Amino acid sequence: MKLLEMNNIKKSFDDLEVIKNISLNIEQGKVVAIIGPSGSGKSTLLRCATMLETIDSGEIFYNGDCAVRTDDDGNVKYALKDDMKKIYGYFGLVFQNFNLFPHFSVIRNVTDALIHVQKKSKKDAYGIGRELLKKMGIADKEKAYPCQLSGGQKQRVSIARALALNPKVLFFDEPTSALDPELTGEVLKVIKDLAKEHMTMVIVTHEMSFAKEVADHVIFMDGGVIVEQGTPEEVFNNTKNERTKAFIQRVN
Ligand code: ADP
Ligand code: MG
Repeated sequence: MKLLEMNNIKKSFDDLEVIKNISLNIEQGKVVAIIGPSGSGKSTLLRCATMLETIDSGEIFYNGDCAVRTDDDGNVKYALKDDMKKIYGYFGLVFQNFNLFPHFSVIRNVTDALIHVQKKSKKDAYGIGRELLKKMGIADKEKAYPCQLSGGQKQRVSIARALALNPKVLFFDEPTSALDPELTGEVLKVIKDLAKEHMTMVIVTHEMSFAKEVADHVIFMDGGVIVEQGTPEEVFNNTKNERTKAFIQRVN
């Protein structure tokens, strides 16, 4: 089943065409890795998929529900507020720079939306939050503040926070690129564990060996288009496109 369907997405910033007619489908339970040089439009694509950025044309469906479409006159129409609320519930997002609330403890960071958006009781929310912190291997950090944590711990808190809302698909935008190399492993491990549980994930990453290991499908983007895509075996070991080849050689 298609959890996310994006058709003919275009996005420009002034004269700069950043996303040039990209279409992609994400199937339930699959892990998709997006790779490509800096400035190729990876973050913008994720931001369009998660409605942090408006599109100029195209359509996006979550679980068959239309989030945005373009009518015959070229007008972009987003879903109405109540429908959008449902659609926001389908996905979670993990950023490169964690985006934790610095003045909230770890457990409050993880439970805040459960209490204030989903209107769960504090007891229930803390139950869910503690379970997730345990899963992330940071149960003992519940009362700590973000400034008291390592980068790897912060990122695991932000993954717990995204998971708390029980999304159907999780987006990661370079989840380890703000981390010291010795801390990337602990974050990649929790993402690998989620993949084993068949969590649907879309991961923008520079970690090629990780992408190779964890992804079902790899997308190589350059210049706002999907240049090449396929299984890790196809993209990494039987690369067809010269630009993909050059990129993989450069980052390895
Ligand atoms: P990537 O994540 O692959 O490095 P981005 O999606 O961040 O690429 O950026 C693609 C291009 O769009 C870059 O040239 C970047 O400067 C430009 N861009 C991204 N966001 C904005 C913005 N808000 N305003 C203007 N230009 C932007
Ligand atoms: Mg980026």
